Amino acid sequence: MNKLLIVDDSSTMRKIIMRVLRQAEISVDNILEAGNGVEGMQQLLSNPDIALVLSDVNMPEMNGLDFVKEIRKSHTKEKLPVIMVTTESGQGLLANALEEGANGYVCKPFTPETIRSALEPYCG
Ligand SMILES: [Mg+2]
Repeated sequence: MNKLLIVDDSSTMRKIIMRVLRQAEISVDNILEAGNGVEGMQQLLSNPDIALVLSDVNMPEMNGLDFVKEIRKSHTKEKLPVIMVTTESGQGLLANALEEGANGYVCKPFTPETIRSALEPYCG
């Protein structure tokens, strides 16, 4: 995969996701980061070659649900897959995000195997 975007308001969580991606041996040339949906949209505008988005649900400024809605105004599910990363507390918003066009989700805490099976359909 060329470029992947990780959107989460916790920089620790973004680091954990990056580490798990490495452990899952998902080969990505370039990983970009954003702290919320607003920053995520900016990254997508400056990097039209981003191939997949991994997004948190609960975030300030623009949460994961509104972020997916925004992405789907310009990118189809096929063109830009969005996988939500969520906790128990994000379940309500997660259901809405899936309705609004998120391709799938993984629950925190996750293992390399979970991440791999969620991302594998879009790799390669
Ligand atoms: Mg969060």
